Amino acid sequence: MSYDAIKADRQLCTGYRKGGQAAKCNGQTYRCTACSTAGCRQTYVDGCSEQAFDVNWKCLKCGAINQKEGPLNFVNRIGA
Ligand SMILES: [Zn+2]
Ligand SMILES: [Zn+2]
Repeated sequence: MSYDAIKADRQLCTGYRKGGQAAKCNGQTYRCTACSTAGCRQTYVDGCSEQAFDVNWKCLKCGAINQKEGPLNFVNRIGA
């Protein structure tokens, strides 16, 4: 099993950080309980291609605030 497959299995963010070099995000992922969108949280809008929440826990898709579920991968976190 590849490293990337392991990461995917642990439900870390598979998106890419924007700006500068394209780097894999591998961030914690959360789900919006209002619209079921899942993705990571970044401190600024459009920080990751798979971002779902901004710093205020606002869902970038439906606009709901503080409706997060997760982190989805907390059970399997390594080195935390
Ligand atoms: Zn991400
Ligand atoms: Zn939402």
